[in-house]
Amino acid sequence: MKAHRTLLIRLPKDECDIDYIKRLMGLTNLAYRGFEVLAPDLLKYVQYQLYGSFKNYMGSLVFGTTPKRWFARAWVPLKVLRIYSDDSMKGDRSAPVVLDFKNGVIKLRQVCKNESGFVVEVPMPRWVIERLKEGGDIKFARIGLKDNEPYLALVAERVVEPYQPSGYRLVVDVNSWRYGIAWGLIHNGQLVSFKQEKPNLNVLLTLYYQAVKRGRKYGALMRIGLHHTTQGKRLRRQVYARKSRIYRITRDKAYFLASKLVKKALKYKALLIIDDMTEESRRELLEEKLPPDVIKLLMSNLKRFVHQLKTLAQWYGVPYQFKRLPSKVCPVCQHELTQEEGRTMVCPNCGFKSPRDSVPMYWALKIEKAI
Ligand SMILES: [Zn+2]
Repeated sequence: MKAHRTLLIRLPKDECDIDYIKRLMGLTNLAYRGFEVLAPDLLKYVQYQLYGSFKNYMGSLVFGTTPKRWFARAWVPLKVLRIYSDDSMKGDRSAPVVLDFKNGVIKLRQVCKNESGFVVEVPMPRWVIERLKEGGDIKFARIGLKDNEPYLALVAERVVEPYQPSGYRLVVDVNSWRYGIAWGLIHNGQLVSFKQEKPNLNVLLTLYYQAVKRGRKYGALMRIGLHHTTQGKRLRRQVYARKSRIYRITRDKAYFLASKLVKKALKYKALLIIDDMTEESRRELLEEKLPPDVIKLLMSNLKRFVHQLKTLAQWYGVPYQFKRLPSKVCPVCQHELTQEEGRTMVCPNCGFKSPRDSVPMYWALKIEKAI
């Protein structure tokens, strides 16, 4: 099985011609549709790389799906030459992207500006060296724009077979950040450990209310036409700074947890069971009549968490399954559970009682016994 991981590297804007990259992205879209456009002012080298790359890698996963709309910008696929510290090389010698491990740099030839012999150099990220040590190889790269900023995407590929699970199961229950991501390690019909992980909600909510307060002040200034003043600009900056900090906190937590859980699964050679109930959690928050902004905050980066968990599991060969584990149905008698004060779930039929976020773990135990 081939596993892939991608790293985005921001390219120096002053060394890149944004319009040129836009044009290459447009041509890439056409190439996806089977059109080879020979633009007389484009370097032959670039045209050859563009269409040559397509012929070679068209069926590859790294290019994602064909762009849906005509003329939408598609990231440009590029071949990669790897030069190792012992002077050995892998890949096409005329490739536009060169990973030079000997000198610790990445060189981009002719793809940032339509100018013969133009090269942009960026330092080699540690990420690339780490993937290489794990047995990965960077065969592909893509260049493109994100929020009008030029980026290089490096795609690492590794051939890996998932291990045989040892009998341990790591169940991951994805809830909103309000109650956190719950995980349980199961062995021999027992819940060995259980934890709910979330960022510090007080910090998040404080930042949120600070942003709201400053946003209101800014709105008041705007109504009297004073939002371009120093005070107005400062308020706007403060709102933006707080919102992006909230986003960064949940993003960092998502990445941290995905990595922690995959390491745990590796340690026990566990089968990873992912219960992605983000939609159910969103509905629960809606029922609690929380403001839409707060719901957005409590749900932010959860999709990213699930994606990262899956990507890392594939990369390290951790076998995984997506499974729905109910939290409102009794795991003993399958009667519907009723929710009491403090999110305790009670079965009116058999008397089963458990905190809501542990119910899926009981279901995972029950499924294990059935096997
Ligand atoms: Zn019951």
